[in-house]
Amino acid sequence: MAQIYPKPETRQALEVFCMMAGEGEFFDLSTKPITREQFRIGKDADKIRKPERAAGYFITDRCIGCGTCVGICPQNCIRSTAIPYVTGEKHCLHCGNCYRECPAEAVVRE
Ligand code: SF4
Ligand code: SF4
Repeated sequence: MAQIYPKPETRQALEVFCMMAGEGEFFDLSTKPITREQFRIGKDADKIRKPERAAGYFITDRCIGCGTCVGICPQNCIRSTAIPYVTGEKHCLHCGNCYRECPAEAVVRE
């Protein structure tokens, strides 16, 4: 740390803390497509019910199968084998392109 923050005033950016419990999500940008995982920490982490799906962008029954979202998804993670189309949550970058450009307003953000 002394090499990264050589001056005392730069060390003010450091804040040491201890996290006892919590949950979160991380993106691994080193994989292509990127991958996303959820995690929980704390002694009761295994007792907390996992949400049915992570927060993100999801396609609803309003989808008309126009294909616009498939063409603009930078992760190529929208499955178009059936209508409604499905976003690939694990690889979704949360860019919101599908949400903004869908002509049927079929994409929701949760
Ligand atoms: S842009 Fe909207 S309507 Fe078109 S395929 Fe995608 S989700 Fe469905
Ligand atoms: S939010 Fe972005 S990455 Fe995720 S499905 Fe929509 S267009 Fe693809």
